[in-house]
Amino acid sequence: SSDKPVVTRFAPSPTGYLHIGGGRTALFNWLYARGRGGKFLLRIEDTDRARSTPEATEAILRGLRWLGLDWDGEPISQFARADRHVAVAQQMLASGAAYKCFSTQDEIEAFREAARAEGRSTLFRSPWRDADPATHPDAPYVIRMKAPRDGETVIEDKVQGTVKFRNDQLDDMICLRSDGTPTYMLAVVVDDHDMAVTHVIRGDDHLNNSARQAMVYRAMGWDEPVWAHIPLIHGPDGKKLSKRHGALGVEEYQAMGYPAAGMRNYLARLGWSHGDDEFFTTEQALDWFDLDGIGRAPARLDFKKLENICGQH
Ligand code: GLU
Repeated sequence: SSDKPVVTRFAPSPTGYLHIGGGRTALFNWLYARGRGGKFLLRIEDTDRARSTPEATEAILRGLRWLGLDWDGEPISQFARADRHVAVAQQMLASGAAYKCFSTQDEIEAFREAARAEGRSTLFRSPWRDADPATHPDAPYVIRMKAPRDGETVIEDKVQGTVKFRNDQLDDMICLRSDGTPTYMLAVVVDDHDMAVTHVIRGDDHLNNSARQAMVYRAMGWDEPVWAHIPLIHGPDGKKLSKRHGALGVEEYQAMGYPAAGMRNYLARLGWSHGDDEFFTTEQALDWFDLDGIGRAPARLDFKKLENICGQH
């Protein structure tokens, strides 16, 4: 896989402005690709129709442009690719990697209640997993992935190391809902595969998703990307980032007059290091950036450091 040209992506959900965590994720992906003559792609994950807005997409693009993080080609709409996601679900069905599940919500609830009462795991185990298609009713169904039940799914992550997930703790995830729409979990994998993404660099809030996503790659016989899950940014007090920590939007920093080059330097230092270097140019960051330099501890916002760094640009 090392002979393939590097392709990274930033895949924001357009539900709000570009926050600094997203700006940092985009920057890491941009640095990694651009520093290696690779491609940096942008995918708008707009499948949640109720929460996605064109205004949010515009705000995210503005934030990225201000940061100077140019992407290759046009931004890709995940929603617009739904037919392709459906086709892959059908392909998994045809190959036996997935199955039609006719269980109703009531039946699933009854399964869970019985499991609770008997002290068993409440993870839903569909009776349709190995059913003979001849017994299928003419009724609504979802398409579920036939996930391995024994052993472990192992993710080799460039930041987190070897991460193991027990397969008996994962259910057969839904790939296609009963209304025929694909799930997010399937869409991400299909899109990353079709976009030839070689490195998935994103927040570690997605680490748990990676096990199920890896199962789809494996079921489809597709090359898995290199995974790198970055610890989320914390506030100066070490707590999860929130509004009380001050500016969270990239554009707020722009409005306060911070230079984009300074912001790039500051964001790069939020979770990544190159020796003791605190101040560097974007050219240096492009030269130096690698996944080994990403730390396993969450970076903390530090406004004094921001002032210091921006003072050098
Ligand atoms: N759309 C997801 C988010 O905004 C990112 C998913 C990914 O990078 O795989 O959190």
